[in-house]
Amino acid sequence: MGRVGFTTTIPVEVLLAAGQEPVDLNNLFIGANHPQQMADQAEEAGYPRTTCGWIKGLYTAALTTEIDSVIAVMHGDCSNTQALMETLELQGMDMIPFAFPYDRDPQGLRASLYKLMDRFGVSEAEVEREKKRLDEIRRLCWIWDDLTWKSDQVSSFENHLKLVSTSDFEGNPDRFAVEMDKLIMEARQRQPESGKVRLAYIGVPPIFTDLYQVLESMGARVVFNEVQRQFSMPYQTENMVDQYICYTYPYGAFARLADIKAQVEQRQVQGIIHYTQTFCYRQIEDLIFRQKLGLPLLTLEGDKPGKVDARSRLRLEAFINMLG
Ligand code: SF4
Repeated sequence: MGRVGFTTTIPVEVLLAAGQEPVDLNNLFIGANHPQQMADQAEEAGYPRTTCGWIKGLYTAALTTEIDSVIAVMHGDCSNTQALMETLELQGMDMIPFAFPYDRDPQGLRASLYKLMDRFGVSEAEVEREKKRLDEIRRLCWIWDDLTWKSDQVSSFENHLKLVSTSDFEGNPDRFAVEMDKLIMEARQRQPESGKVRLAYIGVPPIFTDLYQVLESMGARVVFNEVQRQFSMPYQTENMVDQYICYTYPYGAFARLADIKAQVEQRQVQGIIHYTQTFCYRQIEDLIFRQKLGLPLLTLEGDKPGKVDARSRLRLEAFINMLG
């Protein structure tokens, strides 16, 4: 079995059908013992200081773990991925480009999927079989999400952690499913955590390592983690193309808006935290969410891996107090 890294959620079914172990480099980076050192290493290699911390971390993660190749999502994720891909190629890494179509066109997505399947030598039938297997495991994640917002038995961080892990199922979907079964059984025995301010978190996952714990200590609960939930493909779909067309994250702010609006209403969210990463082009999209969501919204910017800084803490506290 080989190991294949990737820069954001990709059709992981292709890798599993090919007997490859999927490795989301983001999870590897932020879950490392010293993520800031990894970002520093990229700067030492020549990355500009004004590059997003995630990109710097991905660069080092790819070079310091045992992987055979990296799938780089050239369209539908990050404007920096092309340069990331080129600098990894310079280091001798085998790079595989993948692109989500900007216009959300099913034919365009099918073409990208076929190209990836060809690269790994797997058929459509094999990949669809993997999708069916993962459907069952993803269903467990939807239950986990329900336990967060419907019955208040799963914490903000637990929700974030397990949903964000569905990009690579922690390298082993079967093991992941066994763990989820156990966690769900345990969570169902808990007393609900009611009486807290209900928040939504939108945007890329935080580079802060203790954000959810800080929010909970201030009397708030995140009952909707937007992008992390998207990674769990929260839709009943018949085939791969449908699934990755329903997935909103690659298709821009407007594709994401409809999902966010529906979920914040259903989950009775009181306020929204829009997380933006320093030096990320997605910061510009903040003005769209601000105009269109119609709920109190706090824009929270993160730069380096580590704890929430004092200024951000103050802003979060004031926001939660205002909502409470
Ligand atoms: S936070 Fe923005 S700049 Fe950084 S990797 Fe993600 S999309 Fe790219």
